[in-house]
Amino acid sequence: MQAMDVKDIVIVGGGTAGWMSAAGMSRLLGNKKINIRIIESEAIGTIGVGEATVPHIQYFNRLLGIDENNFIKQTNATFKYGIEFVDWHKIGQSYFHSFGPYGMDMEGIHFHHMWLRQQKTGTAKPIDEFNLQIQAAKVGKYAPARPDLKGSPLSALSYAYQFDAALYAAFLRNFSEKNGVTRTEGKIVKVTQAANTGHIESVTLEDGECIKGDLFIDCSGFKGLLIEETLKTGYEDWSHYLPCDSAVTRLSERMTELPPYTRATAKPAGWQWRIPLQSRTGNGYVYSSQFLTDQDALDSLSQDLDTAPISDARQLRFTTGIRKQPWNKNVVAIGLASGFLEPLESTSIHLIQTAIARLMTNFPDMSFNQPDIDFYNERTKTEYVQIRDFLILHYKATTRNDSPFWNYVREMSIPESLQKRIAIYKENARLYSEDKGLFNHSSWFAVFNGQGIHPQRYHPIANFLDEQEMKRRMEEIHTVTQKCLSIMPSHEAFLAKLP
Ligand SMILES: Cc1cc2nc3c(=O)[nH]c(=O)nc-3n(C[C@H](O)[C@H](O)[C@H](O)COP(=O)(O)OP(=O)(O)OC[C@H]3O[C@@H](n4cnc5c(N)ncnc54)[C@H](O)[C@@H]3O)c2cc1C
Repeated sequence: MQAMDVKDIVIVGGGTAGWMSAAGMSRLLGNKKINIRIIESEAIGTIGVGEATVPHIQYFNRLLGIDENNFIKQTNATFKYGIEFVDWHKIGQSYFHSFGPYGMDMEGIHFHHMWLRQQKTGTAKPIDEFNLQIQAAKVGKYAPARPDLKGSPLSALSYAYQFDAALYAAFLRNFSEKNGVTRTEGKIVKVTQAANTGHIESVTLEDGECIKGDLFIDCSGFKGLLIEETLKTGYEDWSHYLPCDSAVTRLSERMTELPPYTRATAKPAGWQWRIPLQSRTGNGYVYSSQFLTDQDALDSLSQDLDTAPISDARQLRFTTGIRKQPWNKNVVAIGLASGFLEPLESTSIHLIQTAIARLMTNFPDMSFNQPDIDFYNERTKTEYVQIRDFLILHYKATTRNDSPFWNYVREMSIPESLQKRIAIYKENARLYSEDKGLFNHSSWFAVFNGQGIHPQRYHPIANFLDEQEMKRRMEEIHTVTQKCLSIMPSHEAFLAKLP
């Protein structure tokens, strides 16, 4: 027998997760049969960070029908080609993780194998010179992809955004309210569960208003008001692998020339981000409180700003890990309530987006079918684990021995899944994408190579190509890349010309 339909969705929390959920669900479920209500408390506020993204956010904005130029203007956004990692492998060395590919795949194998073959003979040009985005980022140039120019590096340009998260939430609020979402301001002080099932029945606000729902989306931030404080779901703590548990943030003036990338500089007990927006620069020192005091972190951040500070500092604490069941009973936790991976690769907003998509695929009826819930939770965990492993690689593969923090991460044990990946790459440079993880082979190569892991061999098929022919192709790719670079405008000029 068909179960009753869900009629009332209550979203608890109006941070980036709450408003992305409201916008996404109102767009996808937007009809008169479902009521979507969001509750947020200005007195509690939002976490107020989360400015850098990965390219997939474009799909989310497109789903909502958002005009990109308007979005850029409304959120003071800039374009992002990737991340520059400074001092990670060793002090004085830096590398780029670009969202775009290196060269072109040949003979059915990835480009890096050909490059490694040339490298073994000492004839290879620097790998960055085969990546148009890295070249452009280094000189502050930006252009969107030209899919019409098939085969050209210009067709493969891939970008994300750096934006003001508060303005993005306001933008999404406007969108959601127009789409029929009802917003209620107020602090939830009581949560009521059904006696027989333990499902959440209602939440009560400070002023006594009781709000009932069928499905609750917990976007209440780290504390997880419903998923943890009420349902006691439990948390899997990954801070052994990712020991940073704190951040101090501070805004500074706009940079004169806006770089189209985020910078992550390794420091004695963690790393510092620099995110350039059109209005100002976001900065933060992510560190481990085991190895650094809050005051020392703040002093170090303030000392290392590229532009003059324009805000007070904010201190934040977190635990890297995942809620044991991000979906428990009739509560789906999205955003920080579901788990947290430190912001090294700017992945949290992406995880909000994929959680919304996954929830839509597995949208429940009032039976709350447990196999569907289990499947949702398994997929969520797989996604978190893949990103977690990618982050750990940045720390583990280092030669730094200049502080107790770097000694710890260099020596720490790592998950088997990552050990396997490293072992395979070290042998013959093979990279695999499991379950279509967020980071593709090109991203893994960027970090392996940048962090100084050099494989013994390359894919044997790379040898099938005649040496002269390989040389010719490599030269051609190199020349075309430099030509494409020469016609790209500066990031600054591109932004200034947007209508
Ligand atoms: C240091 C740091 C840097 C980060 N950088 C990035 C980045 O560059 N890129 C990225 O993608 N992500 C980043 N993130 C993550 C990003 O900030 C979050 O994923 C994002 O802001 C979503 O937060 P949220 O909406 O889940 O929680 P919050 O912003 O904390 O929102 C919680 C909401 O719940 C409401 N609430 C809580 N309790 C109650 C109650 N009792 N009654 C009513 N309402 C309540 C609050 O008022 C608020 O509206 C970063 C996180 C940290 C800690």
